[in-house]
Formats: sequence, C-alpha cells, structure tokens
Amino acid sequence: MGILFLPRAVFTSLPSPIRGARGRRDASKRGRALAPANATAQRGPRQRRSQNVEGEFFVDERCIDCDACRWMAPDTFARIGEKSAVFNQPGDEEERFRALQALLSCPTGSIGTEKSPVEIRRVQETFPLPIDEQSLPDVRHCGYHSKDSFGATSYLIVHPKGNILVDSPRYAKVLARRIEMLGGARFMFLTHKDDVGDHHAWHEKLGCERILHSADVEASTADVEMQLYGDGPWSLGADFDLIHTPGHSKGSVCLFYKPRKALFTGDHLATSEGSDLNMFEKYNGFSVKLQLSNIRKLLDLDFLWVLPGHGRRVRFRDTKERNSALEAFLAAKEIEHDNSVII
Ligand code: SF4
Ligand SMILES: [Zn+2]
Repeated sequence: MGILFLPRAVFTSLPSPIRGARGRRDASKRGRALAPANATAQRGPRQRRSQNVEGEFFVDERCIDCDACRWMAPDTFARIGEKSAVFNQPGDEEERFRALQALLSCPTGSIGTEKSPVEIRRVQETFPLPIDEQSLPDVRHCGYHSKDSFGATSYLIVHPKGNILVDSPRYAKVLARRIEMLGGARFMFLTHKDDVGDHHAWHEKLGCERILHSADVEASTADVEMQLYGDGPWSLGADFDLIHTPGHSKGSVCLFYKPRKALFTGDHLATSEGSDLNMFEKYNGFSVKLQLSNIRKLLDLDFLWVLPGHGRRVRFRDTKERNSALEAFLAAKEIEHDNSVII
C-alpha cells in the first residue's frame, strides 16, 4: 500500500498469529479496569431494573455502569442507583434511533425493548458513527462496545494510507461489513492491555496488524504483530505519533492524530459524566503519580480533542482553554496525591 510507517527497528516482528486462538482475558485481572468492582454480568433470565420508567425501552440488571448509553442517548438513559436506567422513553424518531444505537453498543446486552425494533437493520447501517463532520470528518465511533474491554469505546480512523482501528470493538459481522465498506483496517492500535476485546477476531477478519506496547502484552495478546519497546515516541506515517504515557498501565500509549489535533487517550485521560477532566485513579493498575506526570507531558502536544476509551470525549475551543483546564486539573491532583509528582 506504499505506507510509510514506523522504522522497523522500533518493532519486534512476531511470528504469524495463531489462527483460531481466540484468547480471552484473564478474569482475575479485571479488577484493574474501569468497570466497577461489583460489575459482574449476571447470568440467567433478564431482570428489568425497577428504576426504569414504564414503557418500551428498559435496562436490565446486567448493566455494568459503563456509561456508553448515557452519552450516546442522553435523552433516554440516566444513572440511577449506580447503574443505567431509562428515565424518559424516547419521545420522537431521533431519540428512538439514538436509543437503538445505544442498544447495539451496550457491552452486556442490557438494553431491551418490549417489541422487536422494526428499524434495527437501518440502525446497524449507521455504524461506525460519525463524531464531528466538521473537525473530525475521518474519525468514527465504532459502537458495539465489548464486555472484554470493560465497555470501552473504540474508533475507526479512515485514512488514505490505511485505516486504523483504535482499540477493539465487540466483533460483529455487521460491523465488520461496515468497516470493510470504509476500506477495512490496516492497523489496530491498542492503547493498553484493558481495551483489547476481540482483537483476534478483528485481526482474522480484516488482516489488521495489531500494535501494543510490550509492557502491556499478556498471554492473550502475545501474538500481536507489533510490540513497542522503550519510551518512544514513535511515528506511524507522517500523520500519527504514538506517545508512551505509562501510569494507568505500564504500557499505556496515546495516539496523536496530528492533522486533526485529536488525541486518543485510552484510559490515560478523559472527562467523566457531569464533571471535568478525570484520570480514574480508582482503576489505576500501575502508578497514579506516573500517570499524573504523563498527563502533564500532554501539554507539549498540539491537541484539542480528547478521545478516550473510558469516560467521555471532549473538544477544547482552543489551546488556551485546554491548557487552563489541564493546569487546573493537574494542580488539584498533584496536591491530592502528595505534591510529589515525578517529573
Ligand atoms: S451501555 Fe449497557 S452496560 Fe453500559 S451503562 Fe448502558 S446499559 Fe449499562
Ligand atoms: Zn484501562
């Protein structure tokens, strides 16, 4: 494809992936991720939560409180009693459409309707979803969040030199077909070990080469095609830089899409529901102080979008607004965490 990518020297090429090896993540490691500690998907018959209002849509008790439905369809879903519930039934076609997009994206299949939605195929055809036609015309939200990525958001960057999947959506044939219609995926960039989901299935279907920092490689990702070593930064062609930001995990890496000023942060930095910037210390799996110092490092990058795995995305108006939000966040956190941030 004539793509100019990372100098090979920074990669270790591994043997061909083991076909059919659909390794699942070690359940014992899930406590480190961004699902609440009590968030275990329940087996057995579906139990409609009592917190839902009466009507067509509902959330069941298997909800893991990942927040996806609430930012995808805020007119319908809200957090009530530590999980999501329908607080308002969709009032028009647009709200119903968004609620159905959330239904398809829910990692635990917790959103249901009383009757089979007749328009579900039309809704399927909308994925991957545009994010902002003006400032991010080539970046899409994949939807289909995976329970094996703890409900994390994944993205598709449509690029003339090869598309990039950022983290792993749940594997679904219909989504694979839609991604193929957009040109497939040349790479699957995995921000860190928690959000790898169905990476094997996507690799097998699309032939995408998977990129993950070696410090985050585990048994289920031992066959990724490209491992990053050291502290970088690394380049992926002219438009993408990979920035090592250890803290949330040892091998956390952000992808910086320079022409769009868009930073894909995994679980390094996000905003959270109803609040400002957030680093989710509760789910930190390596070093909070290192995470903080590497959030400070982001001030050197010229980004205005934060596109996270968990949490909510944010677009800053300009660098001034971004710097002031980041500096205020860092100042508060550095005091909270003993004022002894590693520089
Ligand atoms: S998307 Fe599903 S799991 Fe996530 S908060 Fe909504 S109902 Fe719960
Ligand atoms: Zn994580």
